[in-house]
Amino acid sequence: KRRNPGQPEFHQAVEEVAEKLIPFINDNPKYLNASILERMTEPDRVVSFRVTWQDDKGNVRVNRGFRVQFNGAIGPYKGGLRFDKSVTLGTLKFLGFEQVFKNSLTTLPMGGAKGGSDFNPKGKSDNEVMRFCQAYMTELYHHIGKDTDVPAGDIGVGAREISYMFGQYRRITNKFTGVLTGKGLAFGGSNVRKEATGYGSVYFAREMLARKGHTLDGKTAIVSGAGNVAQYTVEKLIHLGAKVVTMSDRSGYIYDQDGIDAEKLQYIIHLKTVKRGDLSSYVEDYPDAKFFPNEHPWGVKAQLAFPSATQNELDGEAAKTLIKNGCILVCEGANMPSTNEALKVFEKAKILFGPGKAANAGGVAISGLEMTQNSMRLQWTFEEVDERLQQIMKKIHDKCVEYGDEDDWVDYVKGANIGGFVKVADAMLAYGVL
Ligand code: NDP
Repeated sequence: KRRNPGQPEFHQAVEEVAEKLIPFINDNPKYLNASILERMTEPDRVVSFRVTWQDDKGNVRVNRGFRVQFNGAIGPYKGGLRFDKSVTLGTLKFLGFEQVFKNSLTTLPMGGAKGGSDFNPKGKSDNEVMRFCQAYMTELYHHIGKDTDVPAGDIGVGAREISYMFGQYRRITNKFTGVLTGKGLAFGGSNVRKEATGYGSVYFAREMLARKGHTLDGKTAIVSGAGNVAQYTVEKLIHLGAKVVTMSDRSGYIYDQDGIDAEKLQYIIHLKTVKRGDLSSYVEDYPDAKFFPNEHPWGVKAQLAFPSATQNELDGEAAKTLIKNGCILVCEGANMPSTNEALKVFEKAKILFGPGKAANAGGVAISGLEMTQNSMRLQWTFEEVDERLQQIMKKIHDKCVEYGDEDDWVDYVKGANIGGFVKVADAMLAYGVL
């Protein structure tokens, strides 16, 4: 904490990992003697830069851009870009640190990174977003490349932003390479990338339930968030027979006791990605539903919970409420949505708990497959990529069970942390001291 002052989210992420890893490292002195965990908590490289752009009124605006290249031991750096007013270096360090373990768990050769800016896309015109993205890439392009570092999307960075940034990279370098993932299907994107994180999270939940002899069919689910991850979590839950009764955004949450069906979901996707409005308008078109301003959905009774909005949206009290209401499974679509207090509550109750670095790894896994397709200059079909996604989520699940099985219960947090750690640590050991 002395070395990284003012970075509470980074401390939180490291504490969660260290708690599960330290006993394992003590049992395996090769990692202890080489100070592997200490080395893994220090990023390989951090780049911070000024982004200057012009708003629609002609005012010159300045934001701060970052790229945190956390660990490149097992492959090119890989991880999303977040554009949000809350972004600090500490936020991106927590996300980059988690990404190292997550990418290792996917079984694909990818190092961990994260980047972004404190630019707030809310209320900005398309032209302003375009000018910002171009300005951001004008500096970032020095630090990335298809074999060096391959960014993707995250909060505030979706198809529109990736397209503007890829266009600028191509224009500056005069090269068409797979330097970003999440691209449009017309210019090197992969089928299922848009759906991958949400679908993957539901596939992970399906694996956890199957081990206990349960299915998703007929279960009630609460989902938070209304962005990319939440939308496709809801879509897959509907496909697999679950009833989704909530979604949320920064304005509050909606409760629809009849269930958000495919048609209502399309309404929400349009609302969020085209109109860029907030969820309060849902109740104008679906008057049987209720809107709760500035609240999270964790008080709603359900068997399944999918926190899919942002970090620390589910605290210890909310975790206790979920358990009290009969929740048997929590699957993290977002990164670190549960506080460490909430994790303790879930651990004590021994429910099925899928931590983000395992459960939401489907997105980066398909990004990895987008890189493969770009190198081959091929595009696989939707069915082919979806099949691979299901296999990868099963492998991640099984890896968590391998390292987290406690006889009467699987500690998926421990399983994911150790399972993700071993491959990266072995690579670092093999390279010697550097
Ligand atoms: P989006 O920007 O598409 O959506 C984010 C959603 O969360 C929006 O509905 C947003 O509300 C809501 N939200 C954001 N911040 C807050 C807040 N402080 N309080 C309440 N609601 C909030 O992002 P994604 O769906 O891509 O990302 C969601 C989470 O999933 C993040 O934690 C991200 O790191 C993680 N993730 C994403 C992956 C991906 O492939 N996209 C991969 C793996 C993890 P509003 O609509 O009002 O802005």
